[in-house]
Amino acid sequence: MKRITRNFVLVTITLAMMTLLMTVSLSFAANGKDYDLVINNGRVMDPETNYDAVANIGIKDGKIAMITEQKLTGKETIDATNHVVAPGFIDTHFHWTRPIGYKLALRDGVTTAMDLEAGAYGPRIDDWYKMHQNKSQVNYGTASGHEFARSKVTQNLPDEDLLDAPFSVVKSRAASTAWADKVLDLEEGNQMLSYIDEGLRLGALGVASTLGYFPGATAREMYEVQKVGANYGRFTAVHLRYTPGTVTTEPNGAQEILANAEALNAPAIINHFNNPGWQLVQELLVRYRERGKNVWGEIYPYAAGSTTINADFCQTRKLGRKTGQ
Ligand SMILES: [Zn+2]
Repeated sequence: MKRITRNFVLVTITLAMMTLLMTVSLSFAANGKDYDLVINNGRVMDPETNYDAVANIGIKDGKIAMITEQKLTGKETIDATNHVVAPGFIDTHFHWTRPIGYKLALRDGVTTAMDLEAGAYGPRIDDWYKMHQNKSQVNYGTASGHEFARSKVTQNLPDEDLLDAPFSVVKSRAASTAWADKVLDLEEGNQMLSYIDEGLRLGALGVASTLGYFPGATAREMYEVQKVGANYGRFTAVHLRYTPGTVTTEPNGAQEILANAEALNAPAIINHFNNPGWQLVQELLVRYRERGKNVWGEIYPYAAGSTTINADFCQTRKLGRKTGQ
């Protein structure tokens, strides 16, 4: 838990420093070789303050010490002509949580990469963090996965097969269909919730649910899953029940999660809501946020996605029902 909290603080401090320094930079002349590193001629963009200009950045002791349009010199210089210089991006929907994936993320400017949709298997969250400790090139974090806990209860996969998140979904999804279509009885439901709960106690940032992949999950199950997160004041991030759906079912999927979040006074994240009906989902999110509710949404930066071919919603019958919407 501390790991990601510390990282967010660093990002916040960096942004605050940029804001402060941009304010004062015009009144100070650039100093000689005071900087350890200078990044010259880049298009400096800070989404928080809307700063957007070709400028030079002086870095000292690992921190931004100056942003100015005047020339800077330092011990080391990077020419960023025709490049954007921005704070590291935070991606909360990043499924390739492995070294090679992180290397590619860095090339996109992502310095914090987290899988808050699938997450990892609760009882192995500690192992997941150990896998990253002192080895990760990016800031990292994960959530306690609903699907992994459901797969454990319905298919009793060995823990080893559930550690390798998020790729282990392939193992569990291929093993049977019980993880997707089984309606849990009371005992199974409580066992599943205990796995999710264990993940939160081991440092998961919140709860991750791929609900749309398992129609066997009842409304009660989803409510109880969100309640586990609520017990710790943590979010539940959800791939909605009807995704991919229609202009009616997509917002209905969001309404389920937002209504539960409201009743439980819990944060919630609506995953990739750039689907049919997104305008209504966005309005719901805006209005909830205006009322002080801690709910967010996220969208894909691209128009297509990919998934496992045997996903329940890929059945021809269901796709056929979508036409003409
Ligand atoms: Zn998804």
